[in-house]
Amino acid sequence: MVALPIVVDTPSRTKAAAEPWREQLRGAARTAADLETAGLRLTDDERRGLGWLEEHGGLPLGVTPHFLGLMNMDDVDDPLRRQVIPTATEFLPTSWDLRDPLGEEELEAAPFLVHRYADRVLLLATDRCAAYCRFCTRKRLVGQGPTPSWEHLQPALDYIRATPSIREVIVSGGDAMMLGDERVESLLSALRSIEHLDVIRIASRMLAFCPQRVTPSLASLLRGPDGGPAVYWLSHFNHPNELEHDATARAIAMLVDAGIPVLNQTVLLRGVNDDRDVLVRLFRRLTRLRARPYYLHQCDLAPGTDHFRVPLDEARALHASLRGHVSGISIPTFVIDLPGGKGKAPLAPEPTVEVKDDHYVMRGYRGDLVEYPRR
Ligand code: SF4
Repeated sequence: MVALPIVVDTPSRTKAAAEPWREQLRGAARTAADLETAGLRLTDDERRGLGWLEEHGGLPLGVTPHFLGLMNMDDVDDPLRRQVIPTATEFLPTSWDLRDPLGEEELEAAPFLVHRYADRVLLLATDRCAAYCRFCTRKRLVGQGPTPSWEHLQPALDYIRATPSIREVIVSGGDAMMLGDERVESLLSALRSIEHLDVIRIASRMLAFCPQRVTPSLASLLRGPDGGPAVYWLSHFNHPNELEHDATARAIAMLVDAGIPVLNQTVLLRGVNDDRDVLVRLFRRLTRLRARPYYLHQCDLAPGTDHFRVPLDEARALHASLRGHVSGISIPTFVIDLPGGKGKAPLAPEPTVEVKDDHYVMRGYRGDLVEYPRR
């Protein structure tokens, strides 16, 4: 398999050598041989998937030592393994596959900038990630270049500057935190100088793949001076085992203690977290660590994700089953990101059973029917 070069940015060699998170990137498994050296005995299905990837290219293989260390190497159905190791099934086309599931290419306002909602933009600041999720929505471009340089991002920053309706910038990619501290500082400083911005949201899966990325200096950079746009961190955890490391708890605490709220998104995935108890454990643990469960996503229609998708009726029932059993602050909104860039559709459990002339009939979480006046 062709090893993918590590492209982040260009700090001095001495500084880079001293940063443990870059060590994680350098040590990431990027070939079948790397995975076996790390102790993973590949199944035939995984071998065929890796062989297909080697021959045809696409979303690369990459798994950090940290994430490998959270897996049970003897379990071929390990929920973390399933998320990052390709199988042959991933390369079987299906009729619902969409190369660009969210219609982002149609909404490109400048290179590397998607403008879907009037008040928000998505800045694709890098195409790289510390590890690669096989269900990635942007697998058409993630990990495959071009990785934008600082100069390449200037038209996007000019567009944001010139568009006062934009109140929030979601810095994503790839993984926004694959940018080194120097680039993060330049980017934040450019965004903070734009008066009409209220929020900068950092979308990153580093807390799961490489929590070593969060350091006191990064937390302080993100915190920035008082009075500027608020910075939020949008994390991505799908299974409670991803949180089973002291480094992860420390990294979340470092962000929250620095005044950076952490919101979490989870993708509902067959064979990973399509189980009420797993979701309950995940959401409770996140809440305890002060990372608020924000969105539960139905897996988008990117190619090679059909085997991950939970049938919608089942997914809705699973989400509804949390009501009344888990604290409201631990229940994320279940959403489908509609194809073609049509936006998020929330799918809340519907308690109304019947609407009468003067009252509603509603079902409580235990199934009891209750009348409630219309006015
Ligand atoms: S970390 Fe995010 S952008 Fe990167 S592969 Fe996973 S889902 Fe895609």
